[in-house]
Amino acid sequence: MKRARKLVEKSSRVMIFTGPGISAASGIPCSGDIRPGAGNCPSDCREVYVPVSYQQFVDSTMFKQIHWKFLYSSYALYRAARPNAAHEAVINLEKRGKLLAVATQNEDNLHRLAGTGTDKLIELHGTWLYAECLDCYDWIPMEDIFLAFAKDECPPMCHCGGWLKPAPLMKGEELERENLIKAFQAARDCDLIISAGSSLYAEPSSSVPLAAKAAGKPYIIINPNRTAQDSVADIKLEGDAGALLPELFA
Ligand SMILES: [Zn+2]
Repeated sequence: MKRARKLVEKSSRVMIFTGPGISAASGIPCSGDIRPGAGNCPSDCREVYVPVSYQQFVDSTMFKQIHWKFLYSSYALYRAARPNAAHEAVINLEKRGKLLAVATQNEDNLHRLAGTGTDKLIELHGTWLYAECLDCYDWIPMEDIFLAFAKDECPPMCHCGGWLKPAPLMKGEELERENLIKAFQAARDCDLIISAGSSLYAEPSSSVPLAAKAAGKPYIIINPNRTAQDSVADIKLEGDAGALLPELFA
C-alpha cells in the first residue's frame, strides 16, 4: 500500500478500470464471471439464469420476452443500489485533479450516481439507464419501459415501431466501438493504471488495462482473489476495493 500510494502521489493522469467486485457492497450480485470461485464470485455463487444471446434476442420475440422478464426481475435491485466507498474514493481522486478516466465493466450506473464526470466515464458494457432501438438507435429510459412492461409483459417497442434492446451488453454482443476506442486512448494517455474489482477475464474489455501496461504505465491491481493479470501487475493489493481504494486515494 505504501508503494502504491507513492505511485498515486507521483501521477497526474490516473486511469481506473473497474469490475463487478466494486459494486458488491452496493448489493449488486456478481454476474458474468460464473466459474466457481473465480474472480469476484464467492464459491457458493451460481448463475441460475442462462443468458439469452444477442442473436437469439434479435431473432425471436419469445427470447425478447424472456430477456426482458429477466431484467425486470432484477430491476428493483439496480434501482435501489447506491454508490459505496469505492465509488466515493474515485470521486475523491477526481477532486484532487488526478483522474483521467474511469473505464468500467459495470452496467449499474453507480459511478455516474456517485458523480464521476460524464466526460471521464466509459461504460464498456453499457448501462441500465436506457434501452436502444434496434432500428432507429434512439435511446429510451429504462424507467419508462418497465412501467409499461409491468402491465403487459410484452417486449417493448420504440415509437418508430422497432424493437427495443436493453443497453446492458448481452452475451455474444459486440462492445460499442466508440467506447473501446476511448478506453484504449485513455490507456495510452494515462500515467498510472489501476484495476479494481475485476477478475480481468472478460474480453475485450480486460485488454484495456493491459494496453496501458504494454505502453509502459505502472499497473496496480486491487482484488480479493486471483486475476488473469496478476503476473504483469507492478503491485497487487489483495482485498476489497471498498476498503483499499479510499486508503489509496486519501
Ligand atoms: Zn426506433
